[in-house]
Amino acid sequence: MEWPEKAPLLEKAPLPVDRPKAGRHGCASFSPRMRFGARPELDHNVSPCRPDLPMPSLVMKFGGTSVATLDRIRNVAQHVKREVEAGYHVAVVVSAMSGKTNELVAWCKDASAIYDQREYDAVVASGEQVTSGLLAIALQNIGIAARSWQGWQIPIQTDDAHGSARIVGIDGTALLDGFHTRGEVAVIAGFQGIHSETGRLTTLGRGGSDTSAVAVAAAIQAERCDIYTDVDGVYTTDPRIVPKARRLEKVAFEEMLEMASLGAKVLQVRSVELAMTHRVPTYVRSSFDDPKDPKPGTLICGEEDIVEQQIITGIAYSKDEAQITLRRVADKPGIAAAIFVPLADANINVDMIIQVVSDDTTTTDITFTVPTADFERAKTILEGMKAEIGYASLQGASDVVKVSAIGVGMRSHAGVAARAFKALAEKGINIRAITTSEIKFSVLIDSAYTELAVRTLHSLYGLDKA
Ligand code: ADP
Ligand code: ASP
Ligand code: MG
Repeated sequence: MEWPEKAPLLEKAPLPVDRPKAGRHGCASFSPRMRFGARPELDHNVSPCRPDLPMPSLVMKFGGTSVATLDRIRNVAQHVKREVEAGYHVAVVVSAMSGKTNELVAWCKDASAIYDQREYDAVVASGEQVTSGLLAIALQNIGIAARSWQGWQIPIQTDDAHGSARIVGIDGTALLDGFHTRGEVAVIAGFQGIHSETGRLTTLGRGGSDTSAVAVAAAIQAERCDIYTDVDGVYTTDPRIVPKARRLEKVAFEEMLEMASLGAKVLQVRSVELAMTHRVPTYVRSSFDDPKDPKPGTLICGEEDIVEQQIITGIAYSKDEAQITLRRVADKPGIAAAIFVPLADANINVDMIIQVVSDDTTTTDITFTVPTADFERAKTILEGMKAEIGYASLQGASDVVKVSAIGVGMRSHAGVAARAFKALAEKGINIRAITTSEIKFSVLIDSAYTELAVRTLHSLYGLDKA
């Protein structure tokens, strides 16, 4: 398979060098990515470059279902063996066994309703410690030199936002030494890092092993980051709810970022951000394939590498959205600030906003959405400010869903969203709010209609498989 050449670097970097052709995939040359410290943003500041490596390296990430049992871990070891034999230095990033992190989170909550976030991280990071050790043992058992790495041992440095920490730097030296001097596969516990100043263990937020994997790939300048999961790629929509969903061969970074942000849980949003910034070709594929005969997956890559671009690439949905409507708010300057500044101060993200002027033209109704987790807090804040804001009543609904259509082709086509509004109306689906941007639009509807709406849009834009 031919891999697209990586885009040129935007920032200071060492000169490109050629690498030998890699086994099956044949990547003749590469552009090294940025040096450690080149960018100030968190999560973007990974890696020293080592352009002197004789062999290409590859990151392989395995999610919870892929390491759910010892048999599945042995199967993962066979996938790793295949790539080692193809001539790669391999860094593997593993999740906890499926269900394990949920169990650990529940234990923390059970131990105390209010708990120390640092201890929460100490508990929930343990799932990945187990699978990294087990996979190293399984690899050794089939004659592949391997060792486990915890986040702090590498180290993967993060900030101190316990429970959702961001990576601030990765020193790839120790991993590269393991490749170079001992010919060893590095089996890295995903989802975890260390806050250097306090020496405390941190975790990267749910689904964070994807981000660990892409960050390690950037840090060691891997040729590719392969994300092995329980589906064989990124689909036009969640294949669990739309059987007619199709696997996409390629998806642009920007589209994948929108799909992940708007609910497609196949990749953690931050992993896509990192892949886009560092131009890490990321390949989503199935760990359930025969390790000796792997099947194609989906390549997340630059838009320029996609030849046949559809107008709409995918449909996503998110139930993580709640609606608040303030009725009969005085229609005067400063009112939006009175409502939204206190919410922003409380770190509550407001997404869709619509304002409807009422018949008397002196008042207005304002509807907006907040994440479900912040719904009660947002209502409490606004109820406490009823007199200051001056509204007649507050109504809230959490049985809503945001359905979105994403595609870079929307940039050059008019009327794409209008077709959706018509199609949804024909199915009797009421739209509560709408937002649009350059490459996506979203509608807020009653959650009872989720599947019908997703299927309707999926067919409307010609995404159903034949
Ligand atoms: P892992 O445990 O390997 O990290 P996840 O459960 O996080 O796996 O992600 C894979 C799941 O993402 C799939 O089982 C699928 O139901 C869901 N998913 C949602 N949207 C999509 C999509 N557009 N394409 C593929 N999978 C999707
Ligand atoms: N085990 C963690 C979770 O379930 C991280 C991951 O799997 O990516 O969220
Ligand atoms: Mg995941």
